[in-house]
Amino acid sequence: MEDDHGMRRSVEELRQTFKSGKTRGVDWRKSQLRAILRLIEENKDNLYKLLQSELGKHPVESYRDEIGIVKKSVDLALSCIDQWMSPKKGWLPLLFLPASTKLLSEPLGVVLIIGSWNFPISLILDPLIGAISAGNTVMLKPSELAPNCSSYLAKLLPIYLDSKAIKVIEGGREVSNQLLEYKWDKIFFTGSVKVGKVVMAAAAKHLTPVTLELGGKCPAIFDSLPNNADIKVATKRVASGKWGACCGQACIGVDYMLVEQKFATTLIEELKKTIKTFYGDDVRNLKNMSKIINKFHFDRLRNLLEDPAVANCIVYGGSFDEKNLIIEPTILLDPPLNAEIMNEEIFGPLLPIITLDNIKESIEFINLKPKPLALYAFTKNENFKKQILTETSSGSVTFNDTMIQFACDDLPFGGVGQSGFGRYHGKYSFDAFSHEKAVLERSFYFELEPRHPPWNNFKLEF
Ligand code: NAD
Repeated sequence: MEDDHGMRRSVEELRQTFKSGKTRGVDWRKSQLRAILRLIEENKDNLYKLLQSELGKHPVESYRDEIGIVKKSVDLALSCIDQWMSPKKGWLPLLFLPASTKLLSEPLGVVLIIGSWNFPISLILDPLIGAISAGNTVMLKPSELAPNCSSYLAKLLPIYLDSKAIKVIEGGREVSNQLLEYKWDKIFFTGSVKVGKVVMAAAAKHLTPVTLELGGKCPAIFDSLPNNADIKVATKRVASGKWGACCGQACIGVDYMLVEQKFATTLIEELKKTIKTFYGDDVRNLKNMSKIINKFHFDRLRNLLEDPAVANCIVYGGSFDEKNLIIEPTILLDPPLNAEIMNEEIFGPLLPIITLDNIKESIEFINLKPKPLALYAFTKNENFKKQILTETSSGSVTFNDTMIQFACDDLPFGGVGQSGFGRYHGKYSFDAFSHEKAVLERSFYFELEPRHPPWNNFKLEF
């Protein structure tokens, strides 16, 4: 294998550091976690500026989705790590006594974390917090599509963190592929379904366990709500889940909506009002909204709308500012179900609304597509909620809101089926990078002889 970017040397150094045992100690883990806090605290202004210039994120959005999330994860890890690391006692059959059992969490070893560009800081640092808490050495590969964030992390991390145990390699697909040739003890990947398959195939060669945090089409079911105030709150939350996080370029963003025909006009009118309040209505001067990451994705989204059968369905928005890579929040009513926009993850500010005769049909509609990472449903109908929970499958279900499940440390974050597998956040991040070793210790007293041969005079009675 060609040794580009000093990769072989770096991987070898990570392996040697892990072997030395220094990353296993709780003091080392805590010191690295505190260093991440310092890194965030001392560089937050630069990080806000970078996220604004590279992705157009408003500082409040950056705090909510990146800086604040990372800070919260480190704080939690620092306050819980002793408890997470402590062995858990288990029960055992009376016949085995005297003996004891425990579950001992051990680090997996040398792990690779590959990130995506849409949350370029938190999707690298958040899994890193789990990997450090669990006592691993780590290679990080941020996304090349947010190059300034990637190089800022590559510059900062060695200043704050133990560079013999935590390294950053920058680059795109080629560098990723080179990294994937090595034997890792775990690969944690955030990205598309397509590349997830590449990662898993590479991991299979070494039987390396993987966590795949992928994407897909997250639906939002909008049941007719009798109360006007509830409709207003619900549409605000939908608008936030569609346009409010990286302009729809979010894995758990709302991809499309399902609504009863008779309720569609109310929903659309309320969404239009909300969009105007959130962002204004001048596409050349949209406030508070992120931009499309690059020309390639800008053109991809524009092409989705250029299908004449789809363009005819635009009921709001639809204009583009190519120079600034801005796409206006756009609503489409009943685009053809065989159009690309209804079959590929949109990952941008276009919102198809599909009308149904009865909202219960939404279950069958969702089940015809791959299992989504997140499913949203706005409803007050308890039976319908039960039906959604039992008759659909998704990484998570959120009733009457969008996106906020991401910030709940007690809820594992991850997909199912094509939206990925494995999970993290809170204690689940520690578990994602640990092996829980089963330990049983017996005393030499008391031997149950019938367990051993010869069994000449032994009669089985069952
Ligand atoms: P991507 O799969 O194109 O890239 C992700 C990473 O893989 C990048 O670091 C990239 O350099 C690398 N990569 C790209 N092509 C590769 C190849 N052929 N071989 C090996 N490595 C390769 O995804 P993206 O464009 O960065 O992100 C968008 C996708 O990620 C969407 O599908 C979105 O839903 C998903 N996503 C999921 C989550 C989650 O937490 N589940 C979060 C953010 C984004």
